[in-house]
Amino acid sequence: AYTGPSVDDIYKKRKEFLSPSMFYFYKKPLNIVHGKMQYLYDETGRRYLDSFGGIATVSCGHCHPEIVQAIVNQTNSLQHSTILYFNPAIAEFGEALASKLPGDLKVVFFTNSGTEANELAIMMARLYTGSHDIISLRNSYHGNAAATMGATAQCNWKFNVIQNGVHHALNPDPYRGVFGSDGKMYAKDVQDLIQFSTCGKVAAFISEAIQGVGGIVDLAPGYLPAVYKSIKEAGGVCIADEVQAGFGRTGSHFWGFQGQGVVPDIVTMAKGIGNGVPLGAVVTTPEIAEVLTRRSYFNTFGGNPVCTAAGHAVLRVIEKEKLQENAHVVGSYLKDRLTALKDKHEIIGDVRGRGLMLGVELVTDREQKTPAKAEILHLMDQIKDLGVLIGKGGFYGNVFRITPPLCFTKEDADFLVDVMDHSMSRL
Ligand code: PMP
Repeated sequence: AYTGPSVDDIYKKRKEFLSPSMFYFYKKPLNIVHGKMQYLYDETGRRYLDSFGGIATVSCGHCHPEIVQAIVNQTNSLQHSTILYFNPAIAEFGEALASKLPGDLKVVFFTNSGTEANELAIMMARLYTGSHDIISLRNSYHGNAAATMGATAQCNWKFNVIQNGVHHALNPDPYRGVFGSDGKMYAKDVQDLIQFSTCGKVAAFISEAIQGVGGIVDLAPGYLPAVYKSIKEAGGVCIADEVQAGFGRTGSHFWGFQGQGVVPDIVTMAKGIGNGVPLGAVVTTPEIAEVLTRRSYFNTFGGNPVCTAAGHAVLRVIEKEKLQENAHVVGSYLKDRLTALKDKHEIIGDVRGRGLMLGVELVTDREQKTPAKAEILHLMDQIKDLGVLIGKGGFYGNVFRITPPLCFTKEDADFLVDVMDHSMSRL
C-alpha cells in the first residue's frame, strides 16, 4: 500500500520548493506512482489508460520488463560518464542506431535531451556551412536553450532570447494554413526568406515531419522535398527533428521524415529513444561530423552506458514486438474511429496525424475554427475521471494529442474513443 505524501502534501512541496513555472492540466492533479505498459496507476491503485505516453517519451510501454532488465543489468556492472574510456554498451548502441538510418547518416553523437540534440545539430550546421542563418517553422518547438528557443516559434514557449539569424517560415498546416494542403506553395515562402531575408546562403532548415507540441500538424504533402531542394541550393543542410515522430511512431515508417520521402543531412532524436530515460542523439554524415574535430567536444552524461543500454533494448523491443507495425494497424483503426466521431460531435474541427501520433482539434465554430479552449480543459478532466489520460497541445491549447505507448491495442483505442464520445455527449 502507498505510504508516501498525499496529493495535497506534494502540492505544498511543489509550491514551496520547485519551479513556480511548472504546470499541470487537471483541476485536481494526479499523483502517478506506478506504470506498466500502457497503464499508469495513482497512489490509490486506480488504473489509467495512458494515451499520451508521457508526451511520446514512452515508446515501448511503461517499465517494459526487457528494458528495465537492461537498465538494471548495466547499472549493476557500470554507470559512468562517456568520456575517457571505451565501453561496449555505448559502441554497440551507436552501431545499432546508425543502422536504422538511411543514406550516409552513420555518425552518432549522444546527448541527454532533445534540446541538447538540436543545439548540437544547429551548431554543426553552422560550422559545416560557414553560414549562420537558420530557417524553422512558425508553430515549431525545438527546445529551450539559446539556439533552440530561437528556432522555436510559439511565443508560449519563448523568453526574450536573442535570435539573430533565425527566420520563421509559414507553417504548412493543412487545417489552418493559408494554402491548405498545397505543400509546394508553403515551400515558396522558404525560398522567399532565403532570397529576401538572408544573404542568399543559409546554415540550416530544421523541422519536424509532424509537429508534436504544435498540435499534431502533419506537414502538407510535398512540402519537405521542395524545401530541402531550396535549402541545398542555398548551401544549407536539412535537420529533421525526430524527437516525437521517430522510432516507429508514425507506423508507416521508422522515421517521420520518410513519410515525405526526403533524406535529411542531420537527424535529431530524444524522448522515445530511451523509453523514459534521459537520452538524445544526433545522427549525421561522416563529412558533417568531421567539424567537431576542430575543437574538443564532449558531453559528460550524454550516452552513458545505462542510458545507451536502455536505448539498445528499445530498438530490440520495437523489432521483436513489431511495434511500428502495431502503430500502423492500431493507429489507422483509431484514426478511423476518431474521424467517425467528428461526424457526431460538432466540436471536433479536425482529426489528423499518422500511426500513433494523432491529433483531434476542438473548435466552437467549424467555419471560424474558433479554438475550444475552455471546453478541452473540461473534457480532459472528464476523460481522466473515466480512467483515460490524454494530452493537449497546439498554439491555442485546443488540440487533443494522442501519442500512447506503441503497445496500445485496438481495445485500448475503443475504450479511449468511447470515453471521448461519452464526455463530448455530455458537454
Ligand atoms: N524537439 C521536439 C520536437 C520536442 O517535442 C521537444 C520536447 N517537447 C524537444 C525538441 C526538446 O526536447 P527536451 O525536452 O528533451 O529538451
